[in-house]
Amino acid sequence: MNKSLTNKLTEFTYFRGRVALYAILKELGVGTGNHVALQAFTCLAVPEAIMATGAIPVYVDIEPNGVNMNPDDLNHKITPQTRAIVVQHTYGVPANIHPILELGNKHSIPIVEDCCHTLTSRINSRQVGSFGVASFYSFEWGKPVVIGIGGSALVNDIDLRERLKNNYSRFKQPGIHEQLKLLAQYYAYRTFYRPSSYWPLRAVFQKLSSVGLVRGNYNSVFRRGKAIDFSFRMPKGISIRLHKQLRYIDKIEKHIRWVANQYLSHINSGLVRHLSLPGSCDVVFARYPLLTDFKLALLEKAHKAKMELAGWYSTPVHPLSEQELNWVCYKKGSCPEAEKRCKEIITLPTNQYVRDRDIDKTIHFFKTVRI
Ligand SMILES: *Cc1c(COP(=O)(O)O)cnc(C)c1O
Repeated sequence: MNKSLTNKLTEFTYFRGRVALYAILKELGVGTGNHVALQAFTCLAVPEAIMATGAIPVYVDIEPNGVNMNPDDLNHKITPQTRAIVVQHTYGVPANIHPILELGNKHSIPIVEDCCHTLTSRINSRQVGSFGVASFYSFEWGKPVVIGIGGSALVNDIDLRERLKNNYSRFKQPGIHEQLKLLAQYYAYRTFYRPSSYWPLRAVFQKLSSVGLVRGNYNSVFRRGKAIDFSFRMPKGISIRLHKQLRYIDKIEKHIRWVANQYLSHINSGLVRHLSLPGSCDVVFARYPLLTDFKLALLEKAHKAKMELAGWYSTPVHPLSEQELNWVCYKKGSCPEAEKRCKEIITLPTNQYVRDRDIDKTIHFFKTVRI
């Protein structure tokens, strides 16, 4: 049973995952002019939280053929101004954490783990999220546990925990209007989302979020200054839902393992490659990644076949376009591996709505697709 994990994940809950990261960084003393290291091949939420503290995101490249931070490149990117390192377990694949922890120790820089893609992946039997001073989680669409929108901070360091506790009351509940919007969004997701409705739903969601009718995963923070989100905690109604959902965590994990195993055993097209995983890791995937030299063609074919296939991350800071990357201090060409992976990664869903027939369709797709 994961009772203790449930307790830990419901202690410090925030409006979104990025707000949890922001709260952790603030309590670590991160502020204006400091540097925070993070990997390229991430989503906008992470640099957004860093920049909301006034700090500058410094991008570290990912490992060759991998999806997580390269410790050697981290070593080059640490500066006297580095005050924290955010380590992401992309898609649920655990980062190469030990050399990163060593570097953190050597330079006395705290490590914060981004566990938004997995609650229960393990490294040598030890759960991710337990290595750094703190970790953070997200519960929006696309994450292992979906409650609408929301995030948690899990704090391992005792002093840091006290500080988070003392300042938690500074975060207020969002207004009723915002709460109703989130509620509507959550029920829409539950009602309409299935792997087979992915493409039309994605189009509707993008349209609605661009006109502000739903909460997208992207704020126009760079035009308006710091987003109001960063002053919010998780609304009460949503935290009750989180409590309920976390009761099913073992079941969710079991389902994810089953789906990922089906993909692993039955997809063997010459057009795609499975990611090679370190033997010491036990991976619970948020999405199942495949590498390919035919990304755009496959996305287009999957769209036509009404099969869920996603391209994220398609730029080093998803979903920013290449022209927008300078908004979050990413310099084009600075992380070549990350840029390469963006051009070759595709991902399959592993969530609770994926059924036998979706898996059969996916396996059939890769068996028969021709480029
Ligand atoms: C989803 C996600 C977050 C946080 O997202 P929120 O929308 O703020 O809850 C952070 N990091 C990664 C890698 C994510 O995928």
